[in-house]
Amino acid sequence: MTNKAFPLGKGRLEEVAAEHPTPFYLYDEAAIRANARAIRSAFAVFPRFFLHFAVKALPNPAILRILREEGFGADCSSLPELLLARMAGISGGDVMFSSNDTPSGEFRAAADMGAAINLDDITHIDFLDGCLGGLPELVCLRYNPGPLKLGNAIIGNPTEAKFGLTGEQIFEGFAALKGRGVGRFALHTMVASNELDVKYHLETGKLLFSLAVELKRRLGVELEFVNLGGGVGIPYRPEEAALDYGALACGLKALFDGIVCPAGLEKLAVRVEWGRVVTGPYGWLVSRAIHRKNIYRSYIGLDASMADLMRPALYGAYHHITVAGKEGAPPVAVCDVVGSLCENNDKFAIGRALPAIDVGEASGDLVIIHDAGAHGRAMGFNYNGKLRAGELLLREDGSVVEIRRRETVDDYFATLV
Ligand SMILES: *Cc1c(COP(=O)(O)O)cnc(C)c1O
Repeated sequence: MTNKAFPLGKGRLEEVAAEHPTPFYLYDEAAIRANARAIRSAFAVFPRFFLHFAVKALPNPAILRILREEGFGADCSSLPELLLARMAGISGGDVMFSSNDTPSGEFRAAADMGAAINLDDITHIDFLDGCLGGLPELVCLRYNPGPLKLGNAIIGNPTEAKFGLTGEQIFEGFAALKGRGVGRFALHTMVASNELDVKYHLETGKLLFSLAVELKRRLGVELEFVNLGGGVGIPYRPEEAALDYGALACGLKALFDGIVCPAGLEKLAVRVEWGRVVTGPYGWLVSRAIHRKNIYRSYIGLDASMADLMRPALYGAYHHITVAGKEGAPPVAVCDVVGSLCENNDKFAIGRALPAIDVGEASGDLVIIHDAGAHGRAMGFNYNGKLRAGELLLREDGSVVEIRRRETVDDYFATLV
């Protein structure tokens, strides 16, 4: 069970909304820091643990700066994401560049920043060499285990995923890198998304640890680190429980001690590239209920739309919804909670039992959509001329600051020639 709390009471939230009109995203700095510390403390069983925050999950430098202060780096996959990391003061090997189908300019930018470059394909060894006029000191290869691992719903089966090198290509790739004078090596995989089962992540660890040992045995290649990628889930539904960091860290450590240490590779570092689990539960999309409509079904219309948060429309994802000031109120009606896009899948919830909701632009209830702190605002878009919500940060001292303003019509027109 997970308690779906929101950090502000109704009175304070109305004050914030008076200053920053809805819809907006709100992130909780204290909660993000506490979570970052819980992750680091659990993974302290690994002396060389490092977390690269997946910038795509919440690409705002104010958040990246907080995470850097908590000891985290960045995982980027495009030039703008590299620039965001740099804006937040994250540089050098604290940046992991895990891209795919990569243009040469982005490889050059990553190399200029000293980022650890993760190659998604065997042909990218030559491509990178061509871009940079030589290979970097450290090269990471992304492994796709194919039939050795079952996928999950969002990312799909590894055999059908476009990412990474096959097992055979991993050996071929590292042999080529070694032959061409690369001296430092790393191995990456990412096979899950939003996975709450510790066992699944342990299997991934086992796969990479075993491969690290094989690489040493067959090629004499000693990896500097393995990167287990992202994909740790969060309890979107109140009846789900969060993944236990301690169980994951200790489980991985037991596998490490059993597989990696006997092969004399105890210096191997363990890294992850987490996004969702780092900030997801600590961000909310706050909107106002402006219309009620009763036809064949009952609808509550918000001033936010799937242009602000598309996960429900894209994956049928569940996002918990509460009404400010009515957290304890009994559900009285089942309704669909919708946005204003001319798309019938613009629905934040379908058939959801909710308390009585007042509607109206001035006096309507504030409706809070939970677990929007990762892959939320970042996935937004401008279809139907929708202007994306801004982002607010609830500081540790209780103040609220704007860290991204709401889009304006001028922003929407800015690219027209
Ligand atoms: C999306 C992504 C991540 C982060 O995934 P989460 O599920 O948010 O933890 C990490 N690495 C890569 C390469 C990704 O594409």
